Amino acid sequence: MSDSLLARHRAVLPDWLALYYEEPVEIVSGSGRHVTDAEGNTYLDFFAGILTNAIGYDIAEISDAVRRQVDTGVLHTSTLYLIRQQVELAERIAGLSGLREPRVFFTNSGTEANETALMLATQHRRSNQVLALRNSYHGRAFGTIGVTGNRGWSATSLSPVKVSYVHGGYRYRSPFRDLSDAGYIAACVEDLREVIETTTAGDVACMIVEPIQGVGGFATPPDGLFGAFAEVLGEYGIPLISDEVQTGWGRTGEHFWGIGAHGVTPAAMTFAKGLGNGLAIGGVVAEAELMNGIGANSISTFGGNPVSTAGATAALDYLLDHDLQGNAAKLGGQLLRGLRAQAEERALIGDVRGKGLMIGVELVEPDGGPSALAAARVMELAKARGLLIGKGGLHGNVLRLAPPMTLTEDEAERALQVLADCLELAEQERR
Ligand code: PMP
Repeated sequence: MSDSLLARHRAVLPDWLALYYEEPVEIVSGSGRHVTDAEGNTYLDFFAGILTNAIGYDIAEISDAVRRQVDTGVLHTSTLYLIRQQVELAERIAGLSGLREPRVFFTNSGTEANETALMLATQHRRSNQVLALRNSYHGRAFGTIGVTGNRGWSATSLSPVKVSYVHGGYRYRSPFRDLSDAGYIAACVEDLREVIETTTAGDVACMIVEPIQGVGGFATPPDGLFGAFAEVLGEYGIPLISDEVQTGWGRTGEHFWGIGAHGVTPAAMTFAKGLGNGLAIGGVVAEAELMNGIGANSISTFGGNPVSTAGATAALDYLLDHDLQGNAAKLGGQLLRGLRAQAEERALIGDVRGKGLMIGVELVEPDGGPSALAAARVMELAKARGLLIGKGGLHGNVLRLAPPMTLTEDEAERALQVLADCLELAEQERR
C-alpha cells in the first residue's frame, strides 16, 4: 500500500477503523487461494477476508452469474416487486436449513441478520431480555453490540437489549476448563439455569450463540453443549438462535451448519459472509411463527437484491457441486494434525482448536497468560513469507486460520511450513 493511500485513509476514515499490519496491504487482485497487493506481492490467503471469500478468488461461475445480472441493466429494483433469484435462493436455503416451516429473509450483512433475528425474537416473546455467551461477537450495530460479549468490540453500552451472558463458548480460559467434556457441559448448563433464574424475569426473548466463536478466537465448545442448553431453554419456551455467519455453508467440515454438532435444531439461524463469496448478502432463516410475528415490510432497501442473490446462488451451487464441505473436513484435519504436532514442541502454543477450515492457535506467555505480542509478531513474519492469517480472541492472542474452502493439500502443507518457521522465530525472539 502506498504511503499516500494510507495517509489519505487515516485522514478521511474514522480513527477506529483498524488496519492489519505495520504496513497495511492493498489487495488489488485474486485468483484461487491467492491475492496480490498493489506492490505486486502475492500471498496465500489463510484469512480470506474473514471468511468472506469462503470459496476462493476469481471463481468464473460466480463472476459470470453476477455479470449476467449486471448485463440486464438492473442492479436493483425494489423488494416491492418479485425478484426471481431471491425466491430461488430462499427456496434453496429453506431446504438446506432443516428448520420446521422455514422462512428466509435477506439482508446485506451479518449484523443486519442478527438485528433482524433479535427483533423477531423480542417481538415474539414481548421481552427485551436476551441470553448470549461470554466472548461472543454478533455485530456492531445498536442491538447486536449488546449481545456481543467482548469488550474490544463493544463501542457503546447503550444497547436496547438487556443481556445476560453465560459460560460455554470459550473453554480455554474458563473456570470449568479442566473438567471433562461432560463435566464442562454440565457446569455450563447449571450456569445457564442459574442465570435464567436469577438475572432474568424468566420471560427471555431468545438465546443467541455462535457454534464456534469467530472473532472470539475460534473458540470451540464441546459437541452437544447447545443441545443441552436447548433442553433448558425449552423448559422456559426460549427460542435458540444460531449465528452461522462464520460456521455456515460447510466451513466446519462435519456439518453444513455449525449447530449440527450439537444435536439440536434451532428456531432460527443467521448467515452472511461465506454465502456470497465476497458479495454483500446476509439473512435469517426462521420458523414461520417467529418470522411472521412482525408487521414490518422489508428492513432495508437492498437486502436480497438481484446481483447479490444471483451471485450467492452460483456460490451455493459451486460449494455443493464440488463438495467443499468434504474438502474442509479433509484439509482441516491435515492442518489440525500439523498444528497439534507443532504445539507439542512449542511452549508458545497454548491451544490448537477448531473444526474444518476454522482453526485457532492460542499463543501464551511462559506463565500461561495470553500473548498478544507473539500473535502480532507471527502475523508480520507470516506476511513477509507470503501468508496472510488473522488474529482474534478477547486478548488478541489467537491466530485465526480460515482459508478458502477450495484449499489444496499442497497449499495447506505450505502454510504449515510457514507457520512452523514463524512460530519458531517468535519463540526464539522472546528468549
Ligand atoms: N456474526 C458473526 C459470528 C460474525 O463473525 C460477524 C462478522 N465478523 C457478524 C455476525 C457480523 O457480520 P457483518 O460484519 O457482515 O455485519
